[in-house]
Amino acid sequence: MKAKVMKIIAISFLLMALVTSIFNIVTIKHGYEVNRIKTNQKVVMLTFDDGPTTDDLAILDILKTENIHATFFMTGINLVKYETNEDTKKVVDRIINEGHTIGNHTYTHDEYLHDQKKLVKELQETNQLIKHVYAQNGVTIAEQDIPVRLAYLQYFKGIDYVQKQVGIKYLVRGYLGTDYNEAQTGKDKIIHQYMSHLSKGKIFVCHTRSYAKVWLPELIQKLKQKDYKFAAFRDDAGQTDSYKNYGKLVF
Ligand SMILES: [Zn+2]
Repeated sequence: MKAKVMKIIAISFLLMALVTSIFNIVTIKHGYEVNRIKTNQKVVMLTFDDGPTTDDLAILDILKTENIHATFFMTGINLVKYETNEDTKKVVDRIINEGHTIGNHTYTHDEYLHDQKKLVKELQETNQLIKHVYAQNGVTIAEQDIPVRLAYLQYFKGIDYVQKQVGIKYLVRGYLGTDYNEAQTGKDKIIHQYMSHLSKGKIFVCHTRSYAKVWLPELIQKLKQKDYKFAAFRDDAGQTDSYKNYGKLVF
């Protein structure tokens, strides 16, 4: 009899642990996780993850030609090269001076579900690097205004703790296709993925890769043909294309 009771207790504990862990993964705090701009206007936001690398140079040239501002979510591991690598400095300085925004994409681009303290530390370290490179270019930015995007668009309940510790105002997600796997996806499919997920206020997740120069100009042309405009994150440079002119960031 005692063994049976123990067995029931053990199973109950296991079930509770299972329910708790599922709850942990699927619970979303809607207050600061954002996927789109809430707007009735035809506007999208372009974002590029995983830089800074020299692959950003071609992307910057395209954006400059098209007069578009984007957001570059950088990893600390790449951004820390700013002081020692001339190419990194050149890319980052252009991003800032051409009116684009730098976002925090963690330090090591890891998975953090089971180590939220590590995530806090990485986001704080990367924020310091971002503040430093902005300051080097004469731009002062409040830490809470640095947008954050986790690798693989991770989210989990513990993220609330991380948000409080770091003071994240915006955890930016958006539509993620497979542009990072260009060998399998190819130009036409990459463009089709974004165009078939197009809606007013959409945030497109793209990647800092050399292949972006193959598909980005055509995607931009297709969006412009549909009368879409492009929203920036920053509005400190007297920009008229800040997302704030179109609406609020919402889940
Ligand atoms: Zn990434």
